[in-house]
Amino acid sequence: MSKMKLGFYGAAGEVTGSNHMLEGAGAKILIDCGFFQGTKVCDDKNNNPFAYDPSTVDALFVTHAHLDHVGRIPKLFNEGFKGKIYSTPPTREIAQLMLEDTVRIIDREAKADNHEPLYRKDAVERAMAHWETLPYEQDVVIGELHIRFRDAGHILGSAMLEIEHNGKKLVYSGDLGNSPSPLIEDTAILSNIDYLVMEAVYGDRVHEDREERTKRLEEVIEDTVKNGGVLMIPAFSIERTQDLLFELNGLIEGNRVPEIPVFVDSPLAIKVTQVFRESKEYFNKETSDIIKGGDDIFKFPKLRFTQGAEDSIAIKDVPAPKIVIAGSGMSNGGRIMHHERLYLSDPKNTLLLIGYQAVGTMGRALQEGVKTVRIFDEDIPVRAKVITIGGYSAHKDMNALIEFVTVLQDSVKKVFVVHAEPGVALFFAQRLRDYLAIDTHVPKEGEVVEIDF
Ligand SMILES: [Zn+2]
Repeated sequence: MSKMKLGFYGAAGEVTGSNHMLEGAGAKILIDCGFFQGTKVCDDKNNNPFAYDPSTVDALFVTHAHLDHVGRIPKLFNEGFKGKIYSTPPTREIAQLMLEDTVRIIDREAKADNHEPLYRKDAVERAMAHWETLPYEQDVVIGELHIRFRDAGHILGSAMLEIEHNGKKLVYSGDLGNSPSPLIEDTAILSNIDYLVMEAVYGDRVHEDREERTKRLEEVIEDTVKNGGVLMIPAFSIERTQDLLFELNGLIEGNRVPEIPVFVDSPLAIKVTQVFRESKEYFNKETSDIIKGGDDIFKFPKLRFTQGAEDSIAIKDVPAPKIVIAGSGMSNGGRIMHHERLYLSDPKNTLLLIGYQAVGTMGRALQEGVKTVRIFDEDIPVRAKVITIGGYSAHKDMNALIEFVTVLQDSVKKVFVVHAEPGVALFFAQRLRDYLAIDTHVPKEGEVVEIDF
């Protein structure tokens, strides 16, 4: 029996900043290296040096392309990392778009605040040059560890990491998808897992089901049309925007809602949508069949993709009712801020929240009912309706998370709960103990634990 060290350097006791280490059996690997995200897309906490020496790490495995899982990768190279990066092919492609976009944002912020940016374009280029792809279910060997990606069903290309040694298995869940997802395959079913490091963002909440969420979206659009208002939807560029377009495609072409102008006002989301168009082999059967039937799922009447700044600004000249989908998903930057500045003060309008809103973000404040927000040095009264539909979440809810662990109940020795706000992590860990009699632990940031592996 050998000992293995598990280090929790991010997303421990909080949702963002994913960064975990596994050391033993002749290998030292990192899993994810993401941004801490709060009031800004790139929170000041990201400036802190890594708690370990990156030059001693053999390889980095990336579960998926969300910024809280990839945002600090270029910084890792700036601090001496020389190893390879592994991810699935779509994760590599989308992560490159995300990191290139991030360089632009942090550069602008650094200039405005008169400090050095966290990293520059050259660090992103170095990261991409070290980045190899590994399809689902294919092994790579590091030291004595056999490592493979399994489908997490969270966003396009998302993966869990399964690590085998001495006939034992450890799984790091990454983010777990809210299956069935409109576009991608379901989360893979695991078996014979000894140790599980798992996310529990929604470890205390239950989402609407698929039918319910579509019905609620339909109602929100109908209200917008009736009031002659603007429906603002802050959306993450990956998966959420494409899921939403797929839903709108169905509602509009099925004549369930009237045709009104819909804008995708995010250059990043537009680029990512193109990656989706080119990655049809990753779609689930239902969606593949719709595409084979001749429907372009990302195209319907009055849908416009506004790439350039001028097109974005011109959206205000289009009379309501209209729908604007823009980033960032948590209203802590991006073009959505411009629309919120223009439209939040009018009770005819609606802000629809469909994704996780981190503590400290403007999105979270709006979700919790603040009466005024400050946007570009201007106080904006919030009179628009603020509505949350949890069913569009890309994360499993409490029941689905418990179900995910239930099938592993006979083999699993310990579950480490990460990627959750502290209260939620403790609540979920308690549930697993009470319902499934499984040993659990909620690690703190910087904690290193030893396991027999
Ligand atoms: Zn994610």
